[in-house]
Amino acid sequence: MEKMITVVGAGPIGLRTATGLKEEGWEVTLLEEHEEIGVPANCSGLLSVSGLERNKIDFSDSTVNEIYGAKIFSPDKTAMAIRRKKPVAVVIDRAELDKSLEKKAEKKGVEIRKNTRMIDSRKDTIFVQHEKRGEMLKTRFVVGADGAASKTRRLVMEKIDPKAFVRTLQVTAKGSFDKDLVEIYFGDFCKGFFAWVIPENKTKARIGLGVSGQYNARDSFNKFVKDMEIEVLNESAFVIPITKPVKEIQKENILLVGDAAYQTKATTGGGIITGSVAADIAVKTISNHLKHKKPLTDYWKNLAPLNKELELHWKVRKYLNSLNEKKYNSLVKKMIKSGMEEFLEKHGDMDFPSKFVNKMMLSPSKWGLLPMGLRLMFS
Ligand SMILES: Cc1cc2nc3c(=O)[nH]c(=O)nc-3n(C[C@H](O)[C@H](O)[C@H](O)COP(=O)(O)OP(=O)(O)OC[C@H]3O[C@@H](n4cnc5c(N)ncnc54)[C@H](O)[C@@H]3O)c2cc1C
Repeated sequence: MEKMITVVGAGPIGLRTATGLKEEGWEVTLLEEHEEIGVPANCSGLLSVSGLERNKIDFSDSTVNEIYGAKIFSPDKTAMAIRRKKPVAVVIDRAELDKSLEKKAEKKGVEIRKNTRMIDSRKDTIFVQHEKRGEMLKTRFVVGADGAASKTRRLVMEKIDPKAFVRTLQVTAKGSFDKDLVEIYFGDFCKGFFAWVIPENKTKARIGLGVSGQYNARDSFNKFVKDMEIEVLNESAFVIPITKPVKEIQKENILLVGDAAYQTKATTGGGIITGSVAADIAVKTISNHLKHKKPLTDYWKNLAPLNKELELHWKVRKYLNSLNEKKYNSLVKKMIKSGMEEFLEKHGDMDFPSKFVNKMMLSPSKWGLLPMGLRLMFS
């Protein structure tokens, strides 16, 4: 017998969850407040090839550029480059990726209701606004995949930590760029996070930064680009949820997934791969509940392997936030001296740090550099 599940938010994670639930045989409605899926796109679109392949995310239609590695700049501008022989990441057109996921969801038979915003939910009723008119929908389960500023989160969590996010500002700009490498910058100008240059090609890049919630991203951004010869084409300001894994992501018939559930990497802010892993776990949890009467509270238990990785990302983030500029400078120099560039070239994995930690444990001379190595690996 079919059951009714409503997924709120048609970002990459809501689309994946809805498609997965439909594939399991459940009746699914997906609500999206915007008229068009994928727009506006608040994202740098940098995704590891291994993460995309592992999670069977089709990026063939959305790839804009291939990335072979990263150049990391300490506050004193010492540069460390990690370059692989094969592409390690791709820069995607985020709107195109979401649209390709939308096509897949539609093909599987997910009912997508655009221009429909969830306002509230009580037990088996969801209150929505559709083209300025209020409506009530009946549903057995709600999956909140409504992103960083999730409304559904407020229905599940007693208290929301106001500090659990970074502010970002990103522009697309014309200029002269190394097409193969992403650039990452650290320093006091972007406290609590980092700055990036992600090339789309030799003449166009996504340039941005993040700062802890108490700082002003625009001031920091202006400092970052003041000596760059660029022409800004467009800009967007947004937030990324950044914290340790949060347990309060399920209550009664509601589950949170993706940015709504803080399932991002605290090191880089990336959330598409980790959110996709969590989406599959949410699908499995709901299906096991419906088919085998397993409790929905199993969601947290089922997330344990992902949360182990997210916890590690969080520990590295905390360590990095404790460093001052002097310490950053000396660490990058030490890393270059210890041959960390070659080590990372061989063993880095952008999404799953525990594999890299195991390799590094076999090399005692590098133990002191572990947290910084982890951060660089994710860049
Ligand atoms: C500047 C920046 C750069 C980033 N770069 C990367 C990167 O390079 N790689 C990476 O992996 N991640 C990156 N991220 C993070 C990534 O964008 C998110 O992790 C990802 O979008 C999360 O997907 P989601 O589906 O959970 O949420 P979202 O993509 O935010 O989707 C949520 C959807 O829900 C809809 N919605 C919201 N509220 C409602 C409502 N009440 N009713 C109906 N619909 C609603 C929204 O319109 C939206 O479509 C970046 C984020 C930022 C801000």
